[in-house]
Amino acid sequence: MVDAGGLNPPGQKWLCGFDSRPGHSDRMNQMTLGIDDHRTAAQVRAALDAALDDMIVDLEKFVNVESPSLEQECLDRSAHFLADLMTRVLGKPPTIIQSDRGPHVHWKGSNDTKVLVVGHHDTVFPLGTVAQRRFAREGNIGRGPGIFDMKAGIVQAIYGIAAVKEWYHTEILITADEEVGSHASRSLLEERARAAGAVLVLEPSADGGALKTARKGTGTFTITITGRASHAGLEPEKGVNALVELSAQIPRIVAMANPALGTTVTPTVAKAGTADNVVPDSATIAVDVRCVVPEEKERLEREMSQLTATLAGARVEVSGGMNRPPMHESMTSELFSVAQRVADEYGIANLQGVAVGGGSDGNITAAAGVRTLDGLGAVGSGAHAITEQVRLDLMPERAALVAGLVQAIVNA
Ligand SMILES: [Zn+2]
Repeated sequence: MVDAGGLNPPGQKWLCGFDSRPGHSDRMNQMTLGIDDHRTAAQVRAALDAALDDMIVDLEKFVNVESPSLEQECLDRSAHFLADLMTRVLGKPPTIIQSDRGPHVHWKGSNDTKVLVVGHHDTVFPLGTVAQRRFAREGNIGRGPGIFDMKAGIVQAIYGIAAVKEWYHTEILITADEEVGSHASRSLLEERARAAGAVLVLEPSADGGALKTARKGTGTFTITITGRASHAGLEPEKGVNALVELSAQIPRIVAMANPALGTTVTPTVAKAGTADNVVPDSATIAVDVRCVVPEEKERLEREMSQLTATLAGARVEVSGGMNRPPMHESMTSELFSVAQRVADEYGIANLQGVAVGGGSDGNITAAAGVRTLDGLGAVGSGAHAITEQVRLDLMPERAALVAGLVQAIVNA
């Protein structure tokens, strides 16, 4: 998800939290390495149930390796942690791909992959959060920064893939910049999605473990208004009031929404003026836009670009745009019905699919024309919030769902 706000790093410089206690990481998880015979649902589920304690140990370490977006040093540690985890559980190492927004981690079972599993290892929480609240467990509930979005989802998926022989035809791409717009991973996501032909996204599930079968397209526009400053008392008539122009633009912007089509257009941040006795010469408006229907992207971009000034002497400029196109239901329905069959087979009750407003990398892969299913991560709540938590006891079940989907897609 990208709806992070107000999460600037604090002034104090923290070291990335890193748990270097020895023990677990030295232990090879032989149980799941190199499976090359077909496993039934019951066998997969039993292997994953038996791996729960190992999953929780790995999740604790992963949460405590702090990984805020854009913190290069932390993301490097996080990528190396993931590389070690993949090497240990899946039996072969990934490639770490550097980008200007941090390292992506790319694992391939072979050069003949048929499904791409997508996640991100950056989190919205600023540097220092782990020092204040490390991984914590109370019974079946696990807490900690990034645990729901999406470290638990990544850990359980790695175990799930390792539990089936179809790991050989599976590819995993864990990016470093999803929470800040996926600008440095978009082309790689599109390329690998097209190469594999099917995408499973490890974003947190919706309420009660529901999968995400549609996501709105998301974007942000910035409207910059330029006027002319003058003394508000001596010669206001010589000024061009950018704040007055701003107020004229707001109703035009709001009118671009189309509730019947699910298109929302929401002015969120406005700024104008420098002093209370000066006619303001500049103003800006930030606008959050979301749409369900792919064609609405073009309409919004066109109408935004056509905004013009109402005051003589004022200038209106528009920047930004739709960052992620919609993930339309037509791209997810096929894999969702596969997931429902897998859920039946694995005894997972009442698997739902829901449409949500937030964007993810599933928007990018679906818009690239590749069938996609999202929300395959952990069951929990509180993404991006201090209340973030996951159900640890459901990790084997969710790992099994990914494993079953991988089996079904590869063998289709
Ligand atoms: Zn996420």
